[in-house]
Amino acid sequence: MATTFACMVDGQPVPHEQSFEVKNPATGESLGFAPISTPEQVERAVSSARAAQPAWAAKSDEERKAILMKVAKVLTENTDYLAKWITKEQGKPLAGPGSMFEMQACVGWTQVPASLDLPTEVVFEDESRRDELHRRPIGVIGAIAPWNWPLMIAIWQIIPSLRTGNTVVLKPSEYTSIGTLEMVRLINTVLPPGVLNTISGDGKVGDILVRHQDVDKIMFTGSASTAKKIIEASGGNMARLTLECGGNDPAIVLPGTEMASKAGDLFWGSFINMGQTCACAKRLYVHEDDYDQVVSSLSAVADQMPMGNGMEENILLGPVQNEMQYNKVISLVDDAKARGAKIIRGGSKAEGQGYFYPITLVGEIDNGIPLVDEEQFGPVLPIIKYKDLDEAVRKANDTKTGLGASVWSDDLEQASQVASRIESGTVWINQHGAIHPMVPFGGMKESGYGVEFGLEGLKAVTLPQVISIKKFAPAEA
Ligand code: NAD
Repeated sequence: MATTFACMVDGQPVPHEQSFEVKNPATGESLGFAPISTPEQVERAVSSARAAQPAWAAKSDEERKAILMKVAKVLTENTDYLAKWITKEQGKPLAGPGSMFEMQACVGWTQVPASLDLPTEVVFEDESRRDELHRRPIGVIGAIAPWNWPLMIAIWQIIPSLRTGNTVVLKPSEYTSIGTLEMVRLINTVLPPGVLNTISGDGKVGDILVRHQDVDKIMFTGSASTAKKIIEASGGNMARLTLECGGNDPAIVLPGTEMASKAGDLFWGSFINMGQTCACAKRLYVHEDDYDQVVSSLSAVADQMPMGNGMEENILLGPVQNEMQYNKVISLVDDAKARGAKIIRGGSKAEGQGYFYPITLVGEIDNGIPLVDEEQFGPVLPIIKYKDLDEAVRKANDTKTGLGASVWSDDLEQASQVASRIESGTVWINQHGAIHPMVPFGGMKESGYGVEFGLEGLKAVTLPQVISIKKFAPAEA
């Protein structure tokens, strides 16, 4: 009989009333059922987090760090089990920059925040006063995760929150619930009850969480349209927000850059997780004189990448994760073709089972076409020729989003100058999407607000509190 996986509330699995089926995007095979949390179950999850928070916050930094290091150990010990869930449910292969890689990232993004400190700062001091800035936990954090890097992004939300003394209610995406529910079940074996709770279901369940009067902050990763609904909801409970939304990242190859040696990095910067990554290169700007060289280097790398069921050995590219996303990719490419764009490789869906779509390079295309202007979030890269750099920078910035961008060049000084003209939270040089747990990551424009990772990410799940002390004049002898 198919298993129904459980949410964890107050350290215990929650019996389900309703559930939905989860299928493997590579095979269509049923993987089991995930629960749909009722409003009462969301209520219990929030009150469990609320009840557990004071005791969790009262633990010393050293105690919380030690417990989070145990979480890292649990993740390490269960890497194989959880990676298989990611592959079966999300589609990314076990091999390459796939689900084993996602699990290694989960461990790294646990160990690093677990080892960081936010010491009290003395912001002002003279003979009459001393002003200290302390960092206090915010309280109960509602975490809403997407389906593209389901476990890793949940970890980005959970661990800094717990490190700084908050408790968490997490809702995974309805497309990738089981792996995350299983990860939280395992982590709960080393956490006090109620510190980390899960609820499950679609946006309706998420909506109950974000509107809850006892939730103090929402950490959200997902689309800008959902982020706007969460902003509206926060008008009702004044929940603080960190919003990590999508991007339509440009990559600019500067004139004359030798790309054969960089094409592997550009390939994975564009197509990691089949392009279903917030900070993937989604538009490539190439000087007209370099166009043939760049296209042939990138095509040569793409030709080496086996696509298939990611549970099989040596597969490096999996399916698109879900039907909605698959149809979006198909319609954006078909629309570009109808408008006269040239398909360099790929360009039509694969035969057979699963949401497979080949790595697709599209030329003879420009800004103004939906495949360029919209975040395609799939294995497709439009390549746009430019005549001069000002034109490339103007077109790169001609978007509502501003998450990442990259500049590719053999001249690092020139690349840095171009980077400083791009409107995005990160600009990488000769790499794309190279995030690191110590380096702040966040977006400009509609890519959201707030940052994650490093000390800035820890500060984002705390409240600053000033303690201001009047000094007494020393008593006369
Ligand atoms: P989505 O916005 O559809 O869903 C994200 C989550 O929000 C899901 O858990 C969903 O159930 C929940 N949700 C939906 N409606 C809600 C509501 N009204 N209230 C509360 N929660 C609600 O996004 P998605 O399709 O899962 O994710 C893909 C998007 O996420 C892409 O745009 C991608 O670029 C972006 N993304 C951004 C980052 C980043 O760090 N900036 C990282 C990964 C993905």
